[in-house]
Amino acid sequence: MPAARVLIDGPSELVFDYAIPDGLPVLAGCRVRVPLRNKTSTGTVLAVTDHAPADLGFALRPLHSLTDPEPLLTPKLLELARWIADYYACSIESVVRVLLPEAVRTEENAAKTRKAVVLTQLPDEETLDQLAKRAPKQHTILTLLRHVPEQQMPLTDLGNAAGTSVKALVAKGFVQLIDQQVRRDPDADGVDEILPTRDLPLSEEQQTSLDAILSSLETDGGSLASPPSPTRPFLLHGVTGSGKTEVYLQAARHVLEAGRTVLVLVPEISLTPQTVRRFRARFAHIQDQVAVLHSNLSQGERFDEWHRIRKGKARIVIGARSAVFAPLPDLGLILVDEEHENSYKQDQVPRYHGRDVAVLRAHLEGATVVLGSATPSLESWQNALDQKYQLLRLTHRADGQSLPLIRVIDMRLESKKQKSKDTFLSDRLRSAIDDRLAKNEQTILFLNRRGFARSLQCPACGHVCQCPHCAIALTYHRTDDRLICHICGHQAVVPRKCPECKDPSIILQGFGTQKVEDVFHKVFPSARIARIDADALRKKNALRDLLNAFRARKIDLLIGTQMIAKGLHFPNVTLVGILNADIGLHVPDFRAGERVFQLLTQVAGRAGRGSLEGEVIVQTFTPHSPSIQFARHHDFDGFADQELEMRRQFGYPPFARCALLTVRSTHERRAEFTLQTLHRRLKEALPPGIELGEPLPSPLVKAHGQFRFQLILRGPKARALTRHVQQVLDKTPLPEDVTAVFDMDALSF
Ligand code: ADP
Ligand code: ZN
Repeated sequence: MPAARVLIDGPSELVFDYAIPDGLPVLAGCRVRVPLRNKTSTGTVLAVTDHAPADLGFALRPLHSLTDPEPLLTPKLLELARWIADYYACSIESVVRVLLPEAVRTEENAAKTRKAVVLTQLPDEETLDQLAKRAPKQHTILTLLRHVPEQQMPLTDLGNAAGTSVKALVAKGFVQLIDQQVRRDPDADGVDEILPTRDLPLSEEQQTSLDAILSSLETDGGSLASPPSPTRPFLLHGVTGSGKTEVYLQAARHVLEAGRTVLVLVPEISLTPQTVRRFRARFAHIQDQVAVLHSNLSQGERFDEWHRIRKGKARIVIGARSAVFAPLPDLGLILVDEEHENSYKQDQVPRYHGRDVAVLRAHLEGATVVLGSATPSLESWQNALDQKYQLLRLTHRADGQSLPLIRVIDMRLESKKQKSKDTFLSDRLRSAIDDRLAKNEQTILFLNRRGFARSLQCPACGHVCQCPHCAIALTYHRTDDRLICHICGHQAVVPRKCPECKDPSIILQGFGTQKVEDVFHKVFPSARIARIDADALRKKNALRDLLNAFRARKIDLLIGTQMIAKGLHFPNVTLVGILNADIGLHVPDFRAGERVFQLLTQVAGRAGRGSLEGEVIVQTFTPHSPSIQFARHHDFDGFADQELEMRRQFGYPPFARCALLTVRSTHERRAEFTLQTLHRRLKEALPPGIELGEPLPSPLVKAHGQFRFQLILRGPKARALTRHVQQVLDKTPLPEDVTAVFDMDALSF
């Protein structure tokens, strides 16, 4: 007898086998109703076998029924789920939960219907005349229905008192009552009016890129619609403003016209409104085939959008990370915009990387995937160097303008001049802002957000205390007043004066956005200043309103963290300032240099996007750092060369895989002790090639009432790392109030 393995809905990740009753077409990916103890529950079929295991010793209970006649998950999506569970060392249940979001699983969210009245037969003139005299209400209803599209309308539109009249009309056989499905349309209100756009004539580089992408979609028959065969992923490296989006748009159009579907991933919908708007505008003629998956869709809207996608009604889907699982049939093209962005990595279980999952999904589905960025991640770049990815390049701005001039201000000299340890406004930046205010042009100021780790820097010479073994900044630990390396555990005393220049003013870095805003209000009393930080994102529409006000030039000076460096386009912004380029450089993370390079390049791309020339001012205590110098010269290749050399030398990604194991508990000692135990066990049978870091307090040692301790693992192969950690975790029972979190390809440490 065939059996189904069913993942029961609910938080406890229960999986049971059920017998499949004769004739019930149950397939993997179907949603089913099953008996569970003495109740009925719902679940998802993970797999179907022809024969239930014979040696069970008891009969399987049969499942009750299907909630939906067709499987909701395709075999390919289930395969993707299995891969993710394996690679990131998490349960398949946790992945299925992401594939079939709660909104889709919950039966209460099922498609909404309403009663509608349909005209079935119009009475002859005579009867109509009689009705007009004796039952004027019935007459009115019939007349209304004659003139509406499809001759049907919602019952409620006929007014409260219509019930009896409709009943009478039904009895006479003139109308019928039906259940009409209503789409809960997220765009029903609130989407700004969109002017349709058409393809632009492409530059030579754009055309070459587009041709390459399209030819990968063609197979022997020369038709885009032919059966798929996997191709190498494309890495589209285009400087800011080079017209990558135009390439995406035209590629998407071709794929849609060939009858296949398109998935567009962006780092975060609310921070990339322009990209979304450009897709909507280009596909305005097939507007109802475009689905934008925001985080603030209601449950019902999410349910409807998901099913529209699955049924092939929405054929182009734009969304952030989790949209990579959108159930598009006949997927032809996946576009990953700003592929280097960290927000593609999920920071909860399952801790997948949206870009990497996109590459795998494209492979499984025979779709083409394009990863685009002005500052590709070094992982993707190395893949291009190794010919695993195919490199496409756009080297010029599409509007023919030159890239903005980047000025680097040496803050060591400024702090001497201003005789202050924590100065953050140089004379050069101050006069540049004054100049913009006078000309009625706009300025964006970036404040590099500090992580939780704090490092020591000398304001006189710029020296930062670094680990001699790991090439990362040492982190200051207040509790024992020491500097510690977060990778190898190396410890150092806190110097009372700078080890390099002997200046006694060595300080902990950092100042907050609030303080910056206060100072700017004093220095520029007439300027209209606004600040964007994490709070702005929390309130619905707050960010959108602020950005609209800025676009409408109601704000002169916008202060924000790096989160506003992405994809914004303001023609009137001619000055971009970076207040503290260093902070990001000295977080205890081997990707620090890469992040600063990305930030500077992206930020510089915000200046001079219109007809006005742009200027960028970067304030730093380490003006000679390679990240700053290469960004200043818009030299990605140069930066990548030297950064990859460092990564190779110290054994960091992309030349090794790196994972983080964190242990959390409300009980500090227990967390620490558990991690030490795990460390010991990991060490006992350490496979060759794997490097095991020391157990240490996390940079953010206490959060949400829990203490955190962590260790870093490195090795040449992800699987070997995962397997080793999984084995140790499996045989190490954790105390009840302790959790262990494994993060493969971790991005923050
Ligand atoms: P990117 O995505 O690489 O940052 P965009 O796609 O935003 O670049 O392009 C920058 C600007 O150049 C946009 O205003 C876009 O409309 C324009 N643009 C892009 N391609 C062309 C083209 N082939 N001809 C004219 N303008 C173009
Ligand atoms: Zn170290």
